[in-house]
Amino acid sequence: MILSNFHTHTSFSDGKKPARNYCEKAIEIGFKSLGFSDHAPVLFPNKYSIEPKELMNYFSEIEDLKKEYKDRLKIYLSLEADYIPNHSYSFSYFREKAAMDYMIGSIHLVYQKQKDRMWFIDGGDQKVWDQGLQEIFDGEIKKAVEAFYNQTQEMIESQKPDVVGHLDKIKMHNKERLFSVHDAWYKDMVANTLSLIKNKDIILEINTRGLYKGRCKELFPSIPIIQQAQNMGIPLMLSSDAHHPDELDGDFLPTIELLKREGIGELHEFVDSKWKSVLL
Ligand SMILES: [Zn+2]
Ligand SMILES: [Zn+2]
Repeated sequence: MILSNFHTHTSFSDGKKPARNYCEKAIEIGFKSLGFSDHAPVLFPNKYSIEPKELMNYFSEIEDLKKEYKDRLKIYLSLEADYIPNHSYSFSYFREKAAMDYMIGSIHLVYQKQKDRMWFIDGGDQKVWDQGLQEIFDGEIKKAVEAFYNQTQEMIESQKPDVVGHLDKIKMHNKERLFSVHDAWYKDMVANTLSLIKNKDIILEINTRGLYKGRCKELFPSIPIIQQAQNMGIPLMLSSDAHHPDELDGDFLPTIELLKREGIGELHEFVDSKWKSVLL
């Protein structure tokens, strides 16, 4: 059983509760470890990421909790950082500010260079996704999806995150309407991205948030991509991407059963200072 979660948001970013509440809940449900990964600041005003002036407070609060809970829960410090050309900090900027245990790199906003605009592909509202696709990518779905994966690949190459978060989130609001995940061009983009993840020795996250929020019927990424990653020897980790203490182990049980049925026998957990393999 996986008794940990390494992708957690608190009220420092868009999570609902202070970090302490997650520590208490983690202990209550028998977790051995908990990693905090609030959204790293970006270079434009927004409501979802840590405010730049709060960043050092975030780091010191998590470090304080690490010490306070050390006999009951292993706490890890991380950030989920966006990579958006011209609009995000370099990951090394954050690495210089604190000795984080690991960093998650994720794409939530797809950058359109000519218009200097960003398409928000996350959140609960399909209309925002549809409208953004029209306004920012003129409805050209293939170009937009390719931009998403190109940006992911650029992030992997230039920022070297330790973990790539929710690799195929772009599918969430598509629901097989405008493109199919079975299209050859789509599968090629995913395969190229996986090769890069393998080459750079990066962990691939299996994210349950779409399932327990009822936003997506599948994991991020989908099972065939997880199987492909396993066959390539890419290490996998399971996370809930919790934004509330009650979500810490969101859909972990059915997901672990599903993974076992689909031939996934091994996940990775962060222990002390490195990622270690755990058999399911
Ligand atoms: Zn995310
Ligand atoms: Zn997240």
